[in-house]
Amino acid sequence: MNTHPHAEFRFYEELNDFLPREKRKLTFDYPLLRRASVKDIIEALGVPHTEVEVILANGESVDFGYIVGGGDRISVYPMFESLDIRPLLKLRELPLRQPRFVLDCHLGRLARYLRQLGFDTLYRNDYSDEGLATISAGEKRILLTRDRNLLKRRIIDHGYFVRNQDPRRQLDEVLARFDLYSDIEPFGRCTRCNGEVAAVDKTEILDRLEAGTRQNFDEFWQCSSCGQIYWEGSHFEKMKSLTDTLDPSKRGG
Ligand SMILES: [Zn+2]
Repeated sequence: MNTHPHAEFRFYEELNDFLPREKRKLTFDYPLLRRASVKDIIEALGVPHTEVEVILANGESVDFGYIVGGGDRISVYPMFESLDIRPLLKLRELPLRQPRFVLDCHLGRLARYLRQLGFDTLYRNDYSDEGLATISAGEKRILLTRDRNLLKRRIIDHGYFVRNQDPRRQLDEVLARFDLYSDIEPFGRCTRCNGEVAAVDKTEILDRLEAGTRQNFDEFWQCSSCGQIYWEGSHFEKMKSLTDTLDPSKRGG
């Protein structure tokens, strides 16, 4: 006979992605073997705290530190979507801060895409987990990762577990998730180093151009950090083929 008190848990929407199949989209019992905060239990069940936006205990909103008691009914909701929080935020016209990102070492292609669209995106293939967590917390950057355990680190407030494995689909997923479509600024960032890119007069960079480029192109842009030069032609073709396939109507889908 089990003498431990129990609580009931129910996870909503995409938080179910993190649960074992038998616990998805239904209310289940959780034995309270020891005193534990709701955050500790949520993460023990496999859901990173960064994915959680609202927790209700017996219908009342509680914070991560809430100690779960016997008989509690706990409902856990994800960021933004399930409670339609985003439209509410927009109605109140909160100043929209430009989202900034830091990506784990498996998301190099996604990093290039985000930079191509002008988003401030830190990426290196040698960041440690510790380093990623520190950057995310210290610079208030959203940590994008395919490693859910990384998101369980205490100091990380803003993080997101990227579901898709294909980089192009990852881009759609992140654009939709953070509603970035209206913030897209093609060629805003250097794909090599994340520096800001601005128009540059051809005469200033003539000596750095190949003869063919010098002859065929007149408009140039340059990275303010690493000096990389961009011009119409292949860079623009790639960009156009990317922006042409972005579909805001896919958001939330
Ligand atoms: Zn650069």
